[in-house]
Amino acid sequence: MKMVYTNENHFLANNAKNIIESVGIVTFLKNEFVQGVVGEVAAFDCWPEVWVVDDSDFERAKEALDEANKSRSMNDWICNHCLEENDASFEICWQCSEDIE
Ligand SMILES: [Zn+2]
Repeated sequence: MKMVYTNENHFLANNAKNIIESVGIVTFLKNEFVQGVVGEVAAFDCWPEVWVVDDSDFERAKEALDEANKSRSMNDWICNHCLEENDASFEICWQCSEDIE
C-alpha cells in the first residue's frame, strides 16, 4: 500500500479518493474518523490519507489527481441546488453535496 494524497480537509481527501477510484483504482482512506481526537496527537497525524491498495497503481493514481488539478479553474461549476461555485475537480457540491448537474 502507498499513500498518494493527504489533506487536513476531509472533503478534499474524499474528493481525491473519488477521482482515483473513477479511473478504476482501489483506494483506502486512512484516519477518516479521527478528527475528534486532534489535540491529543499531533494534528498532522490525523489528516485523512488516501492510499492505493496496489503499489503498482501509485503512478496512475498520481496522474489521475494531476489531471483533475489541471482542469481546475477552467471548468468551475455552479451548483443547481444552492448556486454555490464549485471547483472543477469536485464531483459533488462542497456546500450541499449535490451531484454535478
Ligand atoms: Zn450545492
